[in-house]
Amino acid sequence: MPDSDVFSASLPDSGADRNALRETGRVPFARWCPSPNFGPRPEGAAISLLVVHNISLPPGQFGGPEIEDFFCNCLDHSAHPYFEAIAGIQVSAHLLIRRDGNVVQFVSLLDRAWHAGRSCFEGQEECNDFSIGIELEGTDDTPYTPEQYRKLAQVANLAMAAWPDITDRRIAGHCDIAPGRKTDPGPAFDWELFAAVLDDNRSARKGV
Ligand SMILES: [Zn+2]
Repeated sequence: MPDSDVFSASLPDSGADRNALRETGRVPFARWCPSPNFGPRPEGAAISLLVVHNISLPPGQFGGPEIEDFFCNCLDHSAHPYFEAIAGIQVSAHLLIRRDGNVVQFVSLLDRAWHAGRSCFEGQEECNDFSIGIELEGTDDTPYTPEQYRKLAQVANLAMAAWPDITDRRIAGHCDIAPGRKTDPGPAFDWELFAAVLDDNRSARKGV
């Protein structure tokens, strides 16, 4: 992927966006598609981790409505053999970044989404309690799109501005917090590139 596609001036995020995010938990540029699969965060849990995932339904196919249907418990499980295998599973993520960079939000960032499962980050278990879960539409071995890196960086910087306990070091893959059980976002996710895009986006926001 040509880097020039990834690095470009993103719209600066204003302080107003950051404050609104802390108040409402809603990402301003995301389409709201509420999922019933969430609960309150435990009393005193500080939002301090960002978890990167991937998902595609059916696996390897992009662009359909199935991910949104799945997170909203209205997937037609008879429509595909794989869907039968995941019938009855109630999960969610805060955000989904589609291949074209469009962002869908299922759960307020203030609430606890059900994306991490049994998990541990630096000795702290139950990552759902204190993390924001972001799904990239994709698979472990399909390169993610420049739009996805760009939008993920934009969301991450906005979240870090709103909750400074999230730092660059506290952005992890699902594979990192549930090793041996989960592999996403997989080898296709270029962490070095993401770090560079994150910096680039941060500089653009600060007008450096
Ligand atoms: Zn995952």
